[in-house]
Amino acid sequence: MQTSQMQSISSTSIVERYLAFFTGRGHLELPGSPLVIAGSTTSFTIAGMQPLLPYLRGQEMPPSKRLTALQRCLRTVDVDAVGTNERKLTFFHMLGNWSVGDYGKRGVIELALELLRDFGFERHSLWVTTFAGDPTLNLPPDEQTVEEWLRQGFPPERIVSLGVDDNFWTMGGPGPCGPDTEIFYDRGVELGCGKTTCQPGCDCPRFLEIWNLVFIEYDRFPDGSLARLPFLSVDTGMGLERVALLLQGVESVFETDLFLPAVARLTELAPVGVVGNSSVEQRARRIILDHTRSALFVGLEGIIPGRDERNSVLRRLVRRASRQGRILGIDHPFLGELVLLFAQGHSILLTEQERQCLHILPDMLTNEETRFAHVLTTGLKRLDKLIPGEDGLVSGEDLFKLHAEKGFPSDLAAEILAERGLQVDWSGYDRAFEQHREISRVSAERHFQS
Ligand SMILES: [Zn+2]
Repeated sequence: MQTSQMQSISSTSIVERYLAFFTGRGHLELPGSPLVIAGSTTSFTIAGMQPLLPYLRGQEMPPSKRLTALQRCLRTVDVDAVGTNERKLTFFHMLGNWSVGDYGKRGVIELALELLRDFGFERHSLWVTTFAGDPTLNLPPDEQTVEEWLRQGFPPERIVSLGVDDNFWTMGGPGPCGPDTEIFYDRGVELGCGKTTCQPGCDCPRFLEIWNLVFIEYDRFPDGSLARLPFLSVDTGMGLERVALLLQGVESVFETDLFLPAVARLTELAPVGVVGNSSVEQRARRIILDHTRSALFVGLEGIIPGRDERNSVLRRLVRRASRQGRILGIDHPFLGELVLLFAQGHSILLTEQERQCLHILPDMLTNEETRFAHVLTTGLKRLDKLIPGEDGLVSGEDLFKLHAEKGFPSDLAAEILAERGLQVDWSGYDRAFEQHREISRVSAERHFQS
């Protein structure tokens, strides 16, 4: 909900003001790193701090102890959740500021509150969470951070302590990590789920996390053990799209200015109300928008749709978006057109070199869509005929045949069946897969012998 003090601020302006605020306070602005970092443990950059790992570990001297940047991130691990709520995105921009052994908990909290006030966020709508500690990991509660929030005048009831899953930040595997404190904006009780347990961390739209302040104190090893780092660093991440949602007074990230040109065209291609079921329609629109925008930034890395690790991510994004287009009644390639509109909406966030490469993206997406169109039509017809057995499961063998004979992706088939409330017999699928592999091996040997 937009409050009286807030004025609508464009996404570009949010970025400029954020970076100017921190550079004005002694931070060196770094150029955002690419989505693909050589030698990284993840296929794509998943967090703003990833490019700074050598500094946080004390392995390299940073160019400054105070840093700030806008970082592109791509997280595909829960791609299925896109479309189910107002905030979930595969690709997003993270604004961040870092202290590499410089200011600590008090310093970063003071800076965060000052910038949030500049943006017009009213203090009484802010809530925070802190780390409650975890005895099994021998980690104490973060009492110092609670003290700092109290010192800033936050009432105890708006300081919520949560466990490891919510307030201990890790990279998902080995690497620098530590307790964090998250700042949430209360969008109003009318958006809440009404449960007595509703508070920051709840799945409903009421509390929106806008900034995560992470205290990097530990290095996590592959066996899960933790060692203290030589000094405390601070790593923060503010999701640009979420803050834009609030500062532009809209209901979802898909209504922010970054999405508007593409949304307008999609509405022309498929007028609102084209699907009888509004939640199915909303999900379809959100998936198309999210995936096409993600495809823009993955494509700008020089990645093309294909079978290999990163290529398959792009291919999957295009195929999923294309299939959701069918749900909206769009039966011709349309993602190439949308991707250019996204580029326009993000023009200021692209480099000059990227702007010059844009022209190759529409054809690339259109080619993949065209290649997939026939497979999709045939596959959807075959899926319509699949009937679950007595166990309520759809035959895994049939699903495997659909993949082997028609090239229809099994994950997409399973997703479509799940939308119809049907589950797949995956053990049958695995058996069919093994059998197929055996036949291929024998046939290859025969071929070799002859
Ligand atoms: Zn709730």
